[in-house]
Amino acid sequence: MLYELDEEKKLFQKTVRDFSEQVIRPQTDHLWETGEFPYDIIRQMGDLGILGIPWPEEYGGAGGDYLAYAIAVEEIARVDGSCAITVEAHISLGSSPFYYYGSEEQKREWLVPLAEGKILGSFGLTEPEAGSDAGNTQTKAELRDGEWVINGTKCFITNPGTDMSGVVTVTVVTGEREDGRKEISNIYIPKGTPGYNIAPKYKKMGWHASDTRELNFDDCRVPAGNLIGNRGDGFKQFLDCLDGGRIAIAALAVGNAQGAFEECLKYANERVQFKRPIGKFQAIQFKLADMATDIEIARDITYKAAAMRDAKVPHTKEAAMAKLFSSEMCMRTTTQAVQVFGGYGFMDEYPVSRFFRDAKILEIGEGTSEVQRMVIARELGLR
Ligand SMILES: Cc1cc2nc3c(=O)[nH]c(=O)nc-3n(C[C@H](O)[C@H](O)[C@H](O)COP(=O)(O)OP(=O)(O)OC[C@H]3O[C@@H](n4cnc5c(N)ncnc54)[C@H](O)[C@@H]3O)c2cc1C
Repeated sequence: MLYELDEEKKLFQKTVRDFSEQVIRPQTDHLWETGEFPYDIIRQMGDLGILGIPWPEEYGGAGGDYLAYAIAVEEIARVDGSCAITVEAHISLGSSPFYYYGSEEQKREWLVPLAEGKILGSFGLTEPEAGSDAGNTQTKAELRDGEWVINGTKCFITNPGTDMSGVVTVTVVTGEREDGRKEISNIYIPKGTPGYNIAPKYKKMGWHASDTRELNFDDCRVPAGNLIGNRGDGFKQFLDCLDGGRIAIAALAVGNAQGAFEECLKYANERVQFKRPIGKFQAIQFKLADMATDIEIARDITYKAAAMRDAKVPHTKEAAMAKLFSSEMCMRTTTQAVQVFGGYGFMDEYPVSRFFRDAKILEIGEGTSEVQRMVIARELGLR
């Protein structure tokens, strides 16, 4: 299935590209060097409706679809990975549980300010002892006197500690199921709730300006009504949210690879060795040909998975395939991009170095490559 974007989508793509070039590009070096959170960029994105692209207008969203959201993430990632992951985690992880499973009241109270970009959202699934094995969640919530009392730790959580952060949804164990397995539910916790402690930012290999932190809950109390959807549905809910998230991470990988590729194309014509631009050497030409082919395939399967989500047809396999292929493609492409730049590619001030370092996490976050292969194998009927 080949995706030729229609005129409306092409116009939208151009709008986000122009924004990324004019507003984000001039700040990328500063963001990388300082690790400062890009408040003015994220606020401007909120004003443009980017932080609520796939949600209906009645809930403060832009009334777009998942494909438009994927295109936006791709365009932002082409310029800056930290800004792209901030948007991706906010929409796919922070806002999705409210849209897909929240009550009308929860949507009004939380989805509207999230979609309008007034606050940022996060999702806390990962724990020190529960990464790929998310069912091994240890964080507990006990219902006492009409309140959930939450105790536990979440690690590597995106977006919780900025001045704009408003709410985190966490997976918690709320009891035991009849089959003896853990009953996992989703509960949201507004920032500032006593007992909700946010650690300082991690220092990371890439995504320097994105906000990633450990969260600790120490007898943290929230009303019983902070449960999202049905008690015990937490596992099912986050698996669905992750299907969407994986498509967006795939788009982020396509954008990252595209950004690196464009740097290489320019450099291949500029850098002279043996009295010729290096782009005249077949070895370099082949690298660029492979990169362009890889990116094209990844973009195609990513758009296909997004369109399938929009069409509300099962897409677990396609989302996992898009995430797996695109993230590994991005690592291949950025590795070759550094090679094209030679020693300069190893220097921090060259963007390919940044694209390379931002690429690695794409093979890990929202399910590692190994987990994606497990999901695909399961969808193929292999158990
Ligand atoms: C920058 C950053 C941002 C993040 N943001 C968020 C966030 O917002 N919210 C959130 O909840 N989480 C977030 N994460 C966590 C991320 O999703 C996890 O790191 C990821 O799911 C892997 O879990 P883990 O790190 O515990 O690795 P582990 O699960 O310990 O895996 C270690 C290795 O073992 C492999 N492995 C594990 N089990 C199997 C198996 N059964 N078969 C084969 N191989 C296996 C893995 O593939 C991996 O190679 C973030 C992580 C980072 C680094």
